[in-house]
Amino acid sequence: MSNLVLKDINKIYPNGFHAVHNFNLEIKDGEFIVFVGPSGCGKSTTLRMIAGLEEISKGDFLINGERANEKSPVERGIAMVFQSYALYPHLTVYDNLAFGLTLEGVDEDVIDEKVQRIAGILGLTDYLDRKPKALSGGQRQRVAVGRAIIRQVDIFLMDEPLSNLDAKQRVTMRSEITQIHRSTHATTIYVTHDQTEAMTMADRIVVMKDGYVQQIGTPEELYFNPCNLFVGGFIGEPPMNFITGKIKGNDITFDKNSNKLDASKTRYKLADGDVYFGFRPENISMKPIENGYKIHALATLTEMLGDSTNIYIEMDQDTVILKVDPHDAPKMDEEFDFYLPYDKVYLFDKESENVLKEK
Ligand code: ATP
Repeated sequence: MSNLVLKDINKIYPNGFHAVHNFNLEIKDGEFIVFVGPSGCGKSTTLRMIAGLEEISKGDFLINGERANEKSPVERGIAMVFQSYALYPHLTVYDNLAFGLTLEGVDEDVIDEKVQRIAGILGLTDYLDRKPKALSGGQRQRVAVGRAIIRQVDIFLMDEPLSNLDAKQRVTMRSEITQIHRSTHATTIYVTHDQTEAMTMADRIVVMKDGYVQQIGTPEELYFNPCNLFVGGFIGEPPMNFITGKIKGNDITFDKNSNKLDASKTRYKLADGDVYFGFRPENISMKPIENGYKIHALATLTEMLGDSTNIYIEMDQDTVILKVDPHDAPKMDEEFDFYLPYDKVYLFDKESENVLKEK
C-alpha cells in the first residue's frame, strides 16, 4: 500500500523547455487519480517522473513519506502500462503474463496459479497459447494490463492505455480497469486526454494545461465548480457554452444579441467588465421554470442522437449547443424559447478567465 506526495515538482528538459511547473499533489493509498489535458500539457512527463523514467528537475517525490527522487522504477514498486502494449511478439499470452515473475525466480506452480487467475479476471483463458499477433487490439491491451497487475505492485501507472482501441473496446476496458482497481486497491495514476475516461474512472482528476495544474478535484467538483474557463470547457460533453458579454450594474448584455439579462440573479458578486457567460448544454429546460432566464433563439441545426437532440443556436457571435429531449426539440430554422436556471449559470472574468467570486 502506498501514498504518494508530489511537492513543487518541475521538469526542465535538457533543451531548456520547462514542461511541468510546480506540480503539487498528495495521493492517498489506493486512490485512482487521472491526469487529463490536451496533447503536450505535461501529463506523460509527470507520470514518467513518478515512474522513475524521467529525472525530476526540481521538487520532492515521496512514497510513504520517504524521498524517492533517486530510486529506480523497481525500488519504487511501480508497474506501468503504456499506450503501445509492448508485448513480446515471440512469446505466448501465457509467457507474456508470466515473464516478470519468471525473471524474479518465482516458483512455477505459483506462476501458473497467478497466470490462470489473472487470465480469468481479464477473459484471456482461451487465448493463453496464442501469440500477440493473433489477438485483437483489446485482447492485447488486456494482456498488457494483466502483465502489469500480476506482479501485485502497490503503484500502478497507465499512460493512455486505451488509445489504440476502438470506441466500443474502450468502453469495455474502461469498466474492466475500474473493476481491477476495486479488487487490487493499488494506488493508480492514469493519463488520458479523454475527459469521459477521466470522469468515469477517477476518484480525483488533475486537469493540466501548458505544464500547469489547472484544478484538482473529484469528477463532481470539476463538473459543478470549474475554477476557470479551461476546466469548464474541458470537462463535459458537449462542452460548456460560453458567450461573450459585458456586465454593467446588474445587467449583462451580449454585443450582437438583443438579450439583456439580470446578472444579479446569478450566484456571483458582480463588477462592471467583460465576462464569459457559461452554461452547460444539458442544463436548460424547454418548459417555463420559476427561477430562470427565458431566452429566445433560432435553431440553425439539430442533431438527433436517439436519447437526446443537440440544437445549435447563435447567441451573440458564439454558437451555442442545447441538449434536449428529442420530443421537445424544435425543427431546423424554427424560433423557440428556452429557459436557463439562474443557479446553472457560470460567469468567468474575460481577462483572467477565472470564475467570478460567489456572493
Ligand atoms: P500527449 O498527450 O501528446 O502525450 P502530454 O500531455 O503527455 O501529451 P508530454 O509528453 O508530457 O505531454 O510533453 C509535454 C511537453 O514537453 C511537450 O511540449 C513536449 O513537446 C515536451 N517534451 C517532451 N519530451 C521532451 C524532451 N525529451 N525534450 C524536450 N521537450 C520534451
